[in-house]
Amino acid sequence: MVKVTVWNENRHEQKNPIVRELYPNGIHGTIAEFLQVEGFEVRTATLDEPEHGLTDEVLKNTDALIWWGHLAHDEVKEAIVEKVKQRVLEGMGLIVLHSGHFSKIFKALMGTSCDLLWREAGEKERLWVISPGHPITEGIPEYIELEHEEMYGEHFDIPQPDELIFTSWFEGGEVFRSGCTYNRGLGKVFYFRPGHETYPTYHNKQIQRVIINALKWAEPAKRERPVYGHRKPLEEMKGEKSE
Ligand code: ZN
Repeated sequence: MVKVTVWNENRHEQKNPIVRELYPNGIHGTIAEFLQVEGFEVRTATLDEPEHGLTDEVLKNTDALIWWGHLAHDEVKEAIVEKVKQRVLEGMGLIVLHSGHFSKIFKALMGTSCDLLWREAGEKERLWVISPGHPITEGIPEYIELEHEEMYGEHFDIPQPDELIFTSWFEGGEVFRSGCTYNRGLGKVFYFRPGHETYPTYHNKQIQRVIINALKWAEPAKRERPVYGHRKPLEEMKGEKSE
């Protein structure tokens, strides 16, 4: 089974009683709970732990990392971001949730500003399935409806996704690419939009199903990184000899 680490900055939970009530064990705690029920080997890590809970040992034993952050992206140490990025290039899966679009790790892997439009008005969101044959949408009907969510709108400044999995419609009229996949090195990256901290989004069974599906999809391929750099020819060549 996929070994998962759920990383959360865990700051809203300390400051906002609404968030604490929705997620008494933190957003990471709620996510870890439904993943455990599904049979994943799960650990959690948070910003205020030494090395943000992402030690070499933890990263080495993580097949797929979930990332939720918002208030404190700047506090995440560059050295840790670099280690996470290297692990993705080696094959670790990365699931970036909601406001994680502005995390250092997501921006580093995308190379763009990852900026977007937003509005916090508790409006309805409908996430339409764009890739019905994709493993991430297994068991999901033609759309997921969330009664109250924060709006994220286009333009979303990301590279063209390798695969577009969901497009959201919002009550106020905007649309957004809500589920996007990318290959980075040997690693698979999935950005999934929903999950504003003051709504019960991670208690929604269909949202949970998407995250579960994404973790299974992101499981690392069983192979070493390719060899790079200079190499000798496989065949005897008639041209000039070079080493
Ligand atoms: Zn939000």
